[in-house]
Amino acid sequence: MEQPPSACLDPGCPSSFRDVVGHERWFEALISNLRNEHASGVHQPIALVGAAGVGKRTVARIYAKALVCERELDTRIDAAPCGTCDECLAFDRSSFAYVEVDARHFGDQEQDDKRVDERAQVNAVHSLIERDSGLNTAPVRVVVINNAEELVGAAADVALKTLELEISSSLYVFLVNDEMRFSAALRSRCSVFRIGPLSVEGMVGRLLSLCARWGLRSDEVAIRAIARAARGSFGEALSMLGRVAAHGDLTIESLVREPEFGWGPTMMACWRAVLRDRRDEALALFGQVGRDGPMRMKAMQSFLVACQLRRLLGSVPPDGSVSPALDLVSPVDWELILDDWTAWSRRTGLPVDEAMDRMVGLWACLMADMSWGACFVRGMSVLNAERKASSG
Ligand SMILES: [Zn+2]
Repeated sequence: MEQPPSACLDPGCPSSFRDVVGHERWFEALISNLRNEHASGVHQPIALVGAAGVGKRTVARIYAKALVCERELDTRIDAAPCGTCDECLAFDRSSFAYVEVDARHFGDQEQDDKRVDERAQVNAVHSLIERDSGLNTAPVRVVVINNAEELVGAAADVALKTLELEISSSLYVFLVNDEMRFSAALRSRCSVFRIGPLSVEGMVGRLLSLCARWGLRSDEVAIRAIARAARGSFGEALSMLGRVAAHGDLTIESLVREPEFGWGPTMMACWRAVLRDRRDEALALFGQVGRDGPMRMKAMQSFLVACQLRRLLGSVPPDGSVSPALDLVSPVDWELILDDWTAWSRRTGLPVDEAMDRMVGLWACLMADMSWGACFVRGMSVLNAERKASSG
């Protein structure tokens, strides 16, 4: 076991590039960039471009640590930092070699006057440059600028001049969420690496290997559910992993104790009550689905869509998951709920597909500003009205 999970389930925690980027195409280019930089001592600025949560900051931290690591580069696997030399250890304890700033906080967000905003940014960039680097024992200082697309006008110009001046002493890493808004002048000076969202398969592999390294037992089904729920964001997957690991191993039993994964069986019980017209019981059960109203309403929509898919296809195709929480419901329970729908239809005379269509339509419209309780009562009374209309 490398580190206890409680101490390292922070997005900054994975310690090798492979943990984060796996075998993505740009990985080799990034490693070769690191080798060149190491050999030449020239620190060409880097722009890591990708949507929020894809792992830009994590990659930047590993890159910075790999750059200051004292271990011979050729002796390290995939150029990853060794984690044991003085610089690696210093890095983990907030090193002088690593500075991280957020371009959004350079200016005063309260100010409407754009010029004032820019002047504040310029001042912030200046203070960044003038920061005393005398305490830094590493041969290079790494400056990471988050939300770099917010760096505009004069502040971008100052940053540009800084890059030229400090190219032998500092590596500037720009983390860019929105490439269209990133200063063209800055971008032209950077080596640009675009980080795409991770595929579910890619994420599963990486999460499994992290669990193995941390000595956590893991079910692939549970890991897959986390990967799906993270929707391509490695940071999100890691934070879910951390929350689930707080219950023990990475098993389905631990997973269903988290609100976003555990509502599947409760929703099943709720709908069994709905279809038997046991209203109070149904409402109480719905109140236990998820952690809040919006999540409850989203869960209801997912459930209805999953019901439709299963009626249509018999099962949900592996790449067509509606919700990780519903993936964790057993096939037997799905059969039971579909049988309940059929029995309900026999009693009311309304075809199941038609009733499901109407419920999906209803819940899609109810989302706006009603409370979850009011939505649920409305849904039940519509279903009940169908019954009266068709039986009377
Ligand atoms: Zn090291």
